[in-house]
Amino acid sequence: MSARAVGRSARALWLRNDLRLDDNLALKAAAEGAESLLPVFVFDPSRFNVPTLAGARKCNARRARFLLESVDSLRRRLESIGSGLAVALGPPQEVIPKLCDGCSAVAVAQGYCSEEQREEALVAKRLRTMGAELTTVWGGTLYMPEECGQNPRNTPLLFTSFKNKAEGRGQIRSPVPTPKQLPSLPKKQGELETALGFLPTLQQLGYDDSEVAEAMQDDPRGVLPFRGGEDAALARLQKWMFDDDHLKDYFDIRNGMLGEGYSSKLSPWLALGCISPRRIWSEAQRYETERRIKNKSTYWLIFELTWRDFFIYMALSQGDKIFVPGGVTGDRTPWRGSPDKLERWKEGKTGDPLVDANMRELGATGFMSNRGRQNVASFLIFDLGVDWRYGAAHFEEYLLDYDPCSNWGNWVAAAGLTGQRINKFNTKKQLSDYDPQREYVNHWLRGERKAVLRPGPNSEADKGYGRGKGKDHRDRDGAGEGGGKRGRWTRSEKGKGKGAGGQKRSFYSQEDDRMEDMVRGA
Ligand SMILES: Cc1cc2nc3c(=O)[nH]c(=O)nc-3n(C[C@H](O)[C@H](O)[C@H](O)COP(=O)(O)OP(=O)(O)OC[C@H]3O[C@@H](n4cnc5c(N)ncnc54)[C@H](O)[C@@H]3O)c2cc1C
Repeated sequence: MSARAVGRSARALWLRNDLRLDDNLALKAAAEGAESLLPVFVFDPSRFNVPTLAGARKCNARRARFLLESVDSLRRRLESIGSGLAVALGPPQEVIPKLCDGCSAVAVAQGYCSEEQREEALVAKRLRTMGAELTTVWGGTLYMPEECGQNPRNTPLLFTSFKNKAEGRGQIRSPVPTPKQLPSLPKKQGELETALGFLPTLQQLGYDDSEVAEAMQDDPRGVLPFRGGEDAALARLQKWMFDDDHLKDYFDIRNGMLGEGYSSKLSPWLALGCISPRRIWSEAQRYETERRIKNKSTYWLIFELTWRDFFIYMALSQGDKIFVPGGVTGDRTPWRGSPDKLERWKEGKTGDPLVDANMRELGATGFMSNRGRQNVASFLIFDLGVDWRYGAAHFEEYLLDYDPCSNWGNWVAAAGLTGQRINKFNTKKQLSDYDPQREYVNHWLRGERKAVLRPGPNSEADKGYGRGKGKDHRDRDGAGEGGGKRGRWTRSEKGKGKGAGGQKRSFYSQEDDRMEDMVRGA
């Protein structure tokens, strides 16, 4: 799992979720001592417009657009240092052996979840028959596995325990700089020559013209017009942290929902590896030194990135438990929600203004604040009683920053299925606390329901919108803190009609086991 150089002279680098030159340990390992190096990216059709769970798809056209932009940007960056990027469309186990014919070793950043690991195993098997080797290289976390202060394959399910061990005994290494020059490409001929200039269209990835047309537009109400790629990621970091000087106030502004400044918005780039968390960490350190400001806010950005590591190591430790109905605890209490409730949640038509506004934002832009995500997840699970996995699958389809560990990890924790405290959010109270002037809900629901326009926690306007009277744990991260105690919204209550479940599982019941496999592409 280290960044030792791999194999012999003619090598390839299979890029997946590490679409950057900076701090790329797989790139470093592949390039060191290589006579030639072929960087490759594969668009696997099974990762795009294909069904997963409860009407969701693996990826919508908007996220696919962000990926295409990121791959295009990576190719330009590689070309600028004497290399290039071969791009192909097809199953990796078929495409990679063909493109990498003549290479003795192929390096790839190690996948954290089973889907990526299965893909690696298939490719490795095919390469072996050609006498080539697939080498996996760890990367993309703040803490390396051997330096995370604990057993990386058996990390605690309580974030605070993970964080304390990481901060106490672990170590964050400085990012590895962008290489100035890369080994040359192998001789360009035939398929390889074509691949070095190829980039699929969204239509070739399986999307119809109308979805493509919509995906190519940026909704002006969105927090940012997100553009994929390492250049855009580094520019965003520079703007948010240094030019606009937001880092010093991050702790106080991070719960916002409106506008580009309240949080870094780096998550879409982090998800594709267009930027590394260690680069963000080292830039935050530079900020502290240059600006002579070291406060709770400058720490808190790294604290949040530690949440990201927490879910990566949770995935490594728990395996597929983060994707299956009973989660880590295995609690299979039935759900009482209906397909209709799920549909209304997806469309932002539940009648709860905070939930609806957030779901509209997700649908129109592919982004939603952390505050919003916690509320809509809690609402789906505890107010509507719908299986958490259907929410996770919808997020997977829509989120620009979709990442298997952060998404499924946050969802399984939100459902209380990691055994930690459950945070049931009172969306009515949250609306009053985090959108007191109703600027956010008006931004997304303007003109739809006049009543929303009137602010005030006890105003007539809010009556009939908010649901649920659960205890409001105003924990920003919402992933279940509290010393392992379970809150009042335990799943056992659901059977009594107080929580999320009901007497019977009422929908998708027969499909559950099949879908359990489908969702991770088994
Ligand atoms: C139900 C649910 C689903 C989520 N799905 C995803 C997902 O698919 N991909 C994703 O990147 N994040 C996910 N998150 C976490 C979080 O909401 C986003 O990372 C954050 O809102 C992104 O905005 P930002 O980059 O401006 O964050 P900032 O506030 O600027 O935080 C900086 C970085 O810290 C990390 N981070 C912050 N909070 C969390 C968290 N709770 N879990 C993991 N990492 C975190 C992210 O990498 C983020 O970019 C989810 C949260 C919930 C509650």
